[in-house]
Amino acid sequence: MEDILPQDMWVWRRIEDVARKQLESYGYREIRTPILEETRLFTRAIGEATDIVSKEMYTFTDRKGRQLTLRPEGTAPIARAYVEHSMDKISPIAMLYYIGSMFRSERPQKGRSRQFHQIGVEIIGTTLPVADINVIIQLRNMLKSFGLRDFIIKLNSLGCSKDKDAFAEKLCGYLRDKEKLLCEDCRVRVKKNVLRVLDCKNENCKKVLSKAPNIGDSLCGMCNKHFKEVKDMLEKLQIEFEEAKNLVRGLDYYTGTVFEVTHPALGSQDAIGAGGRYDNLVKEFGGPDVGAVGYALGIERIIMALGKIEEQIPKTVFIATMGYEPKIMGLQLAEEIRKKLKGITVFTDVKGSSLKSQFRNADRNGARVVIIIGEDELKSKKTTIRDMKSREQVSVGMDTVINEIEKRLGE
Ligand SMILES: [Zn+2]
Ligand SMILES: [Zn+2]
Repeated sequence: MEDILPQDMWVWRRIEDVARKQLESYGYREIRTPILEETRLFTRAIGEATDIVSKEMYTFTDRKGRQLTLRPEGTAPIARAYVEHSMDKISPIAMLYYIGSMFRSERPQKGRSRQFHQIGVEIIGTTLPVADINVIIQLRNMLKSFGLRDFIIKLNSLGCSKDKDAFAEKLCGYLRDKEKLLCEDCRVRVKKNVLRVLDCKNENCKKVLSKAPNIGDSLCGMCNKHFKEVKDMLEKLQIEFEEAKNLVRGLDYYTGTVFEVTHPALGSQDAIGAGGRYDNLVKEFGGPDVGAVGYALGIERIIMALGKIEEQIPKTVFIATMGYEPKIMGLQLAEEIRKKLKGITVFTDVKGSSLKSQFRNADRNGARVVIIIGEDELKSKKTTIRDMKSREQVSVGMDTVINEIEKRLGE
């Protein structure tokens, strides 16, 4: 788990601010669920045999013997909240988004830590393809607003649970006499969660799977129609995507449309985020029989994919003061500047340092202008303004100092 330090925080803030604005312009509303849930919520939703549940969850027993888990993902808690608060009674469609920490104790690797952060959305209340499109369009436009280019949207359909079961059986049949050719993980997957064999990155497994049955051939009429419509709408709306026949998701609750966004800057683990339909989950949690679709993006992964970007430093003023009364004067002036000039950062000295070290501090904080107030300035009702670039100093009347600052910061 990592600290996010002040010097890195601006990137995070920029992504979160852009995301919030963008999501709300599509009608999504924010939801915050607890960081802890009962363990069985995740084991039921995500599936006992998945990597997340079997290897990666932070699960512990509290003082009263309750089994709890730090949330490894956001969809199951939101489906729980949807049912618990009868959100279907409030509106036929719930459009929710979240930004927050998730936890998985996987082997840390580049761009993946044990506490990581996700931005995600869920549309609950419809099975129509147009909801899938809504989610994908918003996702694509948000990634563009972050400044990301070259990402790829990969798309597939797993079909309904009947189709998934039928395909799993077919795939098991195909793999029956080939198990010794598979990697160790896949040999376990064949028994527990065979679909996951499809997206194994091992070269031998890929070879074995090159002639495997196609998940698309197992889709029933309804699921076929749904997937066709999704692809057709995306094409008509000129949203680029790649059909990825081997794309499956590591969570059991997915049905129907699944997608993944990848970026070449991320190397072999190239997913920025992923999503899809989970039409049975709300019902399984005791709620109404409603369809749902959503996605989650990793903020760390977005930052990695963005690479180097220039920080926009806010316009900054430092008020350097010498003496007791000037300090009070400085605090008053700082308040006035903050009130009158929006979006400007004003520092005052809180250390009682020499003028020289206050200048140094101003420099370190990126101040363009320093206002100097000493006993002399106080007596003459004037201040001295120092331009930190040219090191020029001019005397300005106390009553016009804010105008002067505004002028200088505007340049
Ligand atoms: Zn189906
Ligand atoms: Zn494998």
